[in-house]
Amino acid sequence: MDYQQILERIYQSILPYAKEGKQADYIPELAKVNPDQFGMSIHTIYGEEASIEQADTRFSIQSISKVFALAMCLSIKGDDLWLKVGKEPSGSSFNSLIQLEVENGIPRNPFLNAGAIVMADILYSHLENPEDDFLAFVRAVSGNETICYNQNVAMSERENGYLNAAIANLLKYHGTIENDIESVLHFYFMMCSIEMSCRELSLAFLAFANHRRKFNYAGIELTASQVKRMNAIMQTCGFYDEAGEFAYLVGLPGKSGVGGGIAAIYPLQYSVAVWSPRLNPKGNSVMGIKALELLTTETKESIF
Ligand code: GLN
Repeated sequence: MDYQQILERIYQSILPYAKEGKQADYIPELAKVNPDQFGMSIHTIYGEEASIEQADTRFSIQSISKVFALAMCLSIKGDDLWLKVGKEPSGSSFNSLIQLEVENGIPRNPFLNAGAIVMADILYSHLENPEDDFLAFVRAVSGNETICYNQNVAMSERENGYLNAAIANLLKYHGTIENDIESVLHFYFMMCSIEMSCRELSLAFLAFANHRRKFNYAGIELTASQVKRMNAIMQTCGFYDEAGEFAYLVGLPGKSGVGGGIAAIYPLQYSVAVWSPRLNPKGNSVMGIKALELLTTETKESIF
């Protein structure tokens, strides 16, 4: 399979969508990003790789960081994690409060903001230096020591993070989180602020694409079946209220973020990351979804 040629062809086909959608502006720092950018990178478990356009430009990974948080929580808590957060698709937006109230402060799944704030609380309780340890894990799984938080993005989000603060308060009221709200929110926003390029993200996700290889990075160990289960959660919950549509169009487990990134995997074959800041109304990258739809259509490689 000549992935380089395929990616280049895909890019030409999606150019008509280049101006569709709108970048996230509820985080003021993200509104400053040039929306007319696109990158894509793919890595196979056999060592092939292909990248196009701005595949080496770093962007805010935002909710894609929730995959790394889930890996750490599963490694630390095992199945006890599921006492505090569910694993069912929500059918609601990533920052919705309604379901959380009706379901007594137990988030539907770890990829909603509420679920990720619960994971931030768990990690905050268990890690000696939460910010250092989280970054060390992301760097180890990516094989790249230069990956960093962007403090400005984290601060900018905190200053305007009224909805996430409301979610954290509801979680605290129900006793789902144990640490003080400000510390948990700060850590959550820091995790979301990590910056990576498509090439770096794709390489990191290779760890989830190949569950037959030992998963052990910076002391975070997962069994093969834990990795498979993480992929199941990416498939069912990775795109919020668009998870069904993404399964229908693309057919790969993956995770999106409001920075415009999407990382996805085809188990035992490849990992792929794509980035373009313009989002559809559900908060997922317009060109990103299109590119992945064409990738699995052209290669006939998807889980379905
Ligand atoms: N930091 C963002 C938020 O909490 C993450 C949302 C996302 O990427 N979907 O709103």
